[in-house]
Amino acid sequence: MSDMFLRSRAQFDRARNSLAGGVATAFRAVQEPVPICFRSGHGARLWDVDDNEYVDYALGFGPMLLGHSPEPVLEAVRRQLERGIGFGASHELEAELAEAVCRTVPSAELCAFSSSGSEGVHAAIRIARAATGRNRVVKFLGHYDGWFDPIHVGVPGQACKQPGTGGQDPAAAAAVTVCPWNDPDALAAAVDTDVAAVIMEPAAVNCGAFAPRPGYLQQARQLASQAGAVLIFDEVITGYRLALGGAQQLYGVTPDLTVLGKALGGGFPISAVCGRADVMAVVADRRVSHVGTFNANPVCASAAIAAISELERSAEVVYPRLESYGAQLAELFRGEAQAAGLPVVVNQIGSAAYGFISDKPVSTYADALDSDAGAYRRFARALLAEGVHVIPRGLLYASTAHQDEDLELTRAAVRKAALKTAPVRH
Ligand code: PMP
Repeated sequence: MSDMFLRSRAQFDRARNSLAGGVATAFRAVQEPVPICFRSGHGARLWDVDDNEYVDYALGFGPMLLGHSPEPVLEAVRRQLERGIGFGASHELEAELAEAVCRTVPSAELCAFSSSGSEGVHAAIRIARAATGRNRVVKFLGHYDGWFDPIHVGVPGQACKQPGTGGQDPAAAAAVTVCPWNDPDALAAAVDTDVAAVIMEPAAVNCGAFAPRPGYLQQARQLASQAGAVLIFDEVITGYRLALGGAQQLYGVTPDLTVLGKALGGGFPISAVCGRADVMAVVADRRVSHVGTFNANPVCASAAIAAISELERSAEVVYPRLESYGAQLAELFRGEAQAAGLPVVVNQIGSAAYGFISDKPVSTYADALDSDAGAYRRFARALLAEGVHVIPRGLLYASTAHQDEDLELTRAAVRKAALKTAPVRH
């Protein structure tokens, strides 16, 4: 049988000689049978170096909410490229972008920009510590808030608080209390008057696309306020994706600080921490050092302004469409796979979803840990052979570029891939 990944394999072999691990981000290494090497992307489709075409549900790990290479973003970026790539100084677009964020995100009164979600979270924690004069941070088991030392513990895949990485400063990890999410009693016990920040994904997408239980975010809001702690919503995934104003708009709970990334930049690397003016004051009055050569880079800022404008212009149509596509996608994954004998379970919140292979519903993080992750990775591999690209861990993202014909292609692919995937536990 011919090998459809011949050039991807050759590229991986070549990369390993000079690029540590052969991939630029460790998450990419788990793709079977080999990390796919892509050549181009447009709309909902990707093409790899072997000329295979895929319907893409990975979407750059989330940023491509408008699809790959969306024209309004490209147009804005081209215009900016002609004017200058970066000045390391003020430019008109940074205020314009901050205004757009403050206009669209309910909690945002002041913003500060960085380049990645991890940096945005790092800044948010530092701001919370400076604003409260406290050190302890409460985060949630299985939530992912970036890879920096002060927060990278109890990450997706871990069953209890553990360091997220070798080389981590034990003192940084020791300052974090890891709490089970969606558990009102555990939250009440964890949030005390020594807590600087409570940080959570307001919809726990990274560990299984779990929605908050009714009243849970309100409880977090109340407990944080009572304890004088800063409530941070890590909306790096949910921002601009679940609604124009993110999960805080969808669920009607306003945090003190919000971290945005991914979809904010329309595919370009930019992130923001934004929130209450009196909390963000520690940045404004320079008690907190918030710096970075590329902060609010004009090319990235132009892309973000274009992405937000596009979403603002079309919000009434786009968000119901994303919800509808997400629901249909989840339903066809479940239906077609189960018809083929593979017990696929999908949790879905708007255009973010998470697939598992499990013979029972996956309603908690413990259920997620109990699912057959190895079988899902093999299912993801079988999907590649049928022209569908998904994140092997289970995440599924839809974009505004996905069309009915993509759904139909996906339906046939899921049926065939499921037939080839036997759920054998390792
Ligand atoms: N927070 C959340 C909720 C995320 O999903 C991610 C990235 N997957 C991050 C923070 C970190 O963002 P980045 O990879 O851009 O550093």
